[in-house]
Amino acid sequence: MSKNILENELFESFANASDNIYIYVCDMKTDISRWSKNTVDYFNLEGEYIKGTGPKWMEYIHPDDRALYLKDIEAVFSGASNRHSCQYRAKNKYNDYVWLECKGSVISDDEGNPLVFAGIMTRLDNQNKYDPLTHLLTNYEMQKYDFSTGSGAILLLGINSFRKINNTHGFLYGNKVLIALSEYLTQSAGKDNRVYRFQGDEFIILSPGSSKEELYKLFENINDYCMNIRGLKSFSVSAGLVSYPEDGTDFNTLLSNLEHSLEYAKEQTHGWIAEFSEKISQRHLRISHLHEALTQSIHNNFEGFELYFQPILDTKTKKITECESLLRWKTPEIQDATPYEFIKILENSGEIREVGFWVMEEALRHAAMWQKKYNISVSFNVSYIQLLDGEFINRLIAKVQELQVDPKLIMVELTESCNAADTKMLSHQFSKLQELGFKIAMDDFGTEYASFGLLHDVSMDVLKIDQKFVRGLVREGNRTDMAIIENVVNMCRQLSIQTIAEGIETEEIQDIIRKIGVSYLQGYLYSKPVPAHEFEQMLLKEQA
Ligand code: C2E
Ligand code: CA
Ligand code: CA
Repeated sequence: MSKNILENELFESFANASDNIYIYVCDMKTDISRWSKNTVDYFNLEGEYIKGTGPKWMEYIHPDDRALYLKDIEAVFSGASNRHSCQYRAKNKYNDYVWLECKGSVISDDEGNPLVFAGIMTRLDNQNKYDPLTHLLTNYEMQKYDFSTGSGAILLLGINSFRKINNTHGFLYGNKVLIALSEYLTQSAGKDNRVYRFQGDEFIILSPGSSKEELYKLFENINDYCMNIRGLKSFSVSAGLVSYPEDGTDFNTLLSNLEHSLEYAKEQTHGWIAEFSEKISQRHLRISHLHEALTQSIHNNFEGFELYFQPILDTKTKKITECESLLRWKTPEIQDATPYEFIKILENSGEIREVGFWVMEEALRHAAMWQKKYNISVSFNVSYIQLLDGEFINRLIAKVQELQVDPKLIMVELTESCNAADTKMLSHQFSKLQELGFKIAMDDFGTEYASFGLLHDVSMDVLKIDQKFVRGLVREGNRTDMAIIENVVNMCRQLSIQTIAEGIETEEIQDIIRKIGVSYLQGYLYSKPVPAHEFEQMLLKEQA
């Protein structure tokens, strides 16, 4: 019984609802209670599960409020009242008393014996002024600042890959990172500057009277601190930088310029700072413009989208045995958007889901046309977000049946990173596909996205070695890339995983790759990606 009461799924979902809300549930039979993780952290409780809660919680309550609290709670347990509802002060981990509104109720069995006592505590004090986790000012406070007079500079900081940090080391660890960083920011910003927690992993330093150069320096110190942080794993931050009145004289303009700059910085390199400029503003306009046109294309039945195909050759026979489908998109007005550019926009907006279904169906349609005539296998790219969607597999299976395609001739290439929390799910989806006969490839092996870790966790049939390594093979004195590729290929052989080398542009690279023993070759040396009819010409020519 106690397990059922305390291990409730609803508890889990409510428990993370907000930083300001603390949840508890108590099994009255065993007198064991469970507290949401943020409660444990904020009040420094002895643990998530506490035996004999009543007297222990009492110690946290302000002595002046204890009588009131007791009176209310006794009424509930005696049956005189069915709801516990009162306001009192409780001591947090900083030894500060904060006002709480505590509401709870008792559930009893048929005989009237209390079974469960559960409730919610809400923080009342300064809710909008201070962030409860870091104690920094919130962005509501920043909105009140008058930017129309005076001058100064503002830094918007974001922690790189914070989602990954949270997923890998847990929610409480993520909180520690936020707290450590905010303490350092307060310390290092200087007394004339204001530090705000803007949202999630983003912080703002407002520095009236300062120049951008001064904040540049501060940013470097902050990054040094994060890289060498005591007691935590090192991480990095990126930043956007503006000055006023030059880049705006009101909160909204300055903020949106800061956000575009931070976004730009994060895309350049991690640990970068970007000063707002005309270029960043233009780039943002272009992204908005492309996004609008992409949405339009999707609504017009995917008008403007097309699949190109690039041949993949068997290293031994040098015959085309496979091809990769690559997405292209053009409109009468927009002719120059690269796949990297528009796919990123689709991924960020979530529209990659719809477009991904379209890509899958187009790839299968061509596979169906070509399988009998040329016995060729067709691969297509998916981001891992697509794979986590259960609908993806259902539609893939339905379409394969409808078109009567042999799943053995279909390969799914996973193009994007995936965090530890999702690996399990991913590996489950992969196994399901492999059982049905589909092939799975890990794309871009060797980049930050695809590495040995993933190889260990999910089973795959093919590994595609990233172009970066392949091209590096001919760089003067480069033994590292050679050693990496040799080892990867050997390891794959032992695991019965096939390998494809991407980005083969010269005979020289081809010869090196063949000697290493890579199974398949792909690159401009053989052909660029081409429209379907051109690809078919290639196949026909080869047959002849
Ligand atoms: P990718 O999956 O790594 O695809 C290989 C990219 O390398 C393609 O670029 C291809 O044209 C290019 N390439 C092939 N051989 C050579 C070579 O010898 N030299 C050079 N320099 N490049 C070569 P592309 O078509 O621009 O696609 C870029 C990326 O966009 C793809 O990288 C993939 O991550 C993504 N992508 C393309 N189509 C789709 C799609 O349908 N869905 C998803 N989710 N992503 C896609
Ligand atoms: Ca690919
Ligand atoms: Ca690739």
